[in-house]
Amino acid sequence: MIGQDIIARFQDLLGPKGVITDPDDIAPWLTDWRGRFHGAAVAMLAPADTTQVSAVVALAAQLGVPLVPQGGNTSMVGGATPPPDGSALILSLRRLNRIRAISADDNLALCEAGVILSTLHDAAATVGRRFPLSLGAKGSATIGGLVSTNAGGTQVLRHGTMRTLVEGIEAVLPDGSIFDGLDALKKDNRGYDIKQLLIGAEGTLGVITAAALRLVPAIAMRAVGWAGVPSPAAALDLLRLAQSRIGVGVEGFEIIANDGLAHVLSHIPGTRRPIDTPAPWHVLIEVDQAGADEQGPVLLLEDVLAQALDSGLALDATFAANEVQAEAFWRIRESLSEAERAQGPALQFDVSVPVARMPCFMVETADAAERTFAGTSASSFGHLGDGNVHFHVRAPKGTPDGPAWVAAQGGTISAFVHDAVVAAGGSISAEHGIGQMKRAELGRLASPARLSALRAIKAAFDPQGIMNPDKLIPRADEG
Ligand code: FAD
Repeated sequence: MIGQDIIARFQDLLGPKGVITDPDDIAPWLTDWRGRFHGAAVAMLAPADTTQVSAVVALAAQLGVPLVPQGGNTSMVGGATPPPDGSALILSLRRLNRIRAISADDNLALCEAGVILSTLHDAAATVGRRFPLSLGAKGSATIGGLVSTNAGGTQVLRHGTMRTLVEGIEAVLPDGSIFDGLDALKKDNRGYDIKQLLIGAEGTLGVITAAALRLVPAIAMRAVGWAGVPSPAAALDLLRLAQSRIGVGVEGFEIIANDGLAHVLSHIPGTRRPIDTPAPWHVLIEVDQAGADEQGPVLLLEDVLAQALDSGLALDATFAANEVQAEAFWRIRESLSEAERAQGPALQFDVSVPVARMPCFMVETADAAERTFAGTSASSFGHLGDGNVHFHVRAPKGTPDGPAWVAAQGGTISAFVHDAVVAAGGSISAEHGIGQMKRAELGRLASPARLSALRAIKAAFDPQGIMNPDKLIPRADEG
């Protein structure tokens, strides 16, 4: 247990504002977004700048106190939840919330770790640019968390994950030293790419304090369409048709099972079904163009959807008539996680398989899960074009105690789904990371070479093991 003498040392560094000890103030940050993991911490450290982060980490290293870096606490894998025995302190980066610079000339934004994603979106718009990564938690997720999870979202198809959007990083390493890699050089061959090691490290190798992020031109025109389709295979054919006709202008392509749509309509106020014709699957497609005069891509979407209707790839289709309707379509997609949470207990899987195999995986794994686990219902939604869906297995209707069902069935169902993912040549974590939720499964399924490389890198950066303990890296008894 971490004693008052140790807390006093951190208070000396950060002052009263920088060390939160009131249990009521700490409580919201001890449980993950899904309410599945519960931790304990006697204090939450809240430094205000990189120098303070460095001092905090150096002191933690000296005292051997583990730290759990935390941004918006929207992790889907319990990544930012401290251990339940109170053996670590939360290191909140939310006070590092300045956009240090934003330049349309350089197409760069220099953001501190605690900047909220939607704040960056707004700031980029003021200089005629945009940051092309968005996700349902954009109002809470921070740049530090997004970098540390190599977040994806709904624009990966065109712009890639955080890994491709981060041009430079400033971070505090586990001994308290500051790694200044914000220079955003196009070419830099000084050996191992430390920046890329820190991206997706889930706070296990150091603390991100700032990032230089690539901006792209603002959208001048967009077309947002919604189509009901007979199957995921038809959805993928529709995507291929759109890409062959429209090219890189296809910015978003999301698939939604009809039951997921129904959950949104029943739990999220103000949402409406975009099309009347019943369909087992739906797709949301967005086509963008930067210049207002070259109207090609946007107009082509109409053609593509007409062709899809003629050929039977789509059962029905519609366009957003204006920006309000476009936002309403996207709101349905972005509310899916929230609606599924409200629907009841479920096991959620964020998985990827090669794109061409995804339609088959979605249908066959859902059927197999429902057959094997009586009373459950399974379906998926997400980023079909990236070969990444969020696959949910819901508890039987009327399950009286959700957490007890998860505790009893979680291991078996997870192994079942993850084995299917591996058999399809996929990954058990596409974009949410490993955190504590998937650590043992990573240990069970990863190759010895991958596991020993992960462990060696962790040991080299953090020999004392003080950075985000028990996350990401499987324990010795886990593989
Ligand atoms: P936290 O949850 O606070 O932390 C996440 C991890 O990063 C933890 O391991 C933590 O220790 C570490 N960390 C946080 N800040 C730092 C830092 N400064 N330095 C070092 N480590 C740090 N994710 C996607 O990729 N795509 C989606 O489409 C998507 N949709 C979502 C929708 C909803 C409704 C929700 C709730 C979540 C969604 N997520 C999605 C997951 C989540 O939003 C991302 O993982 C996000 O990157 C987490 O940001 P955060 O600031 O909340 O980080």
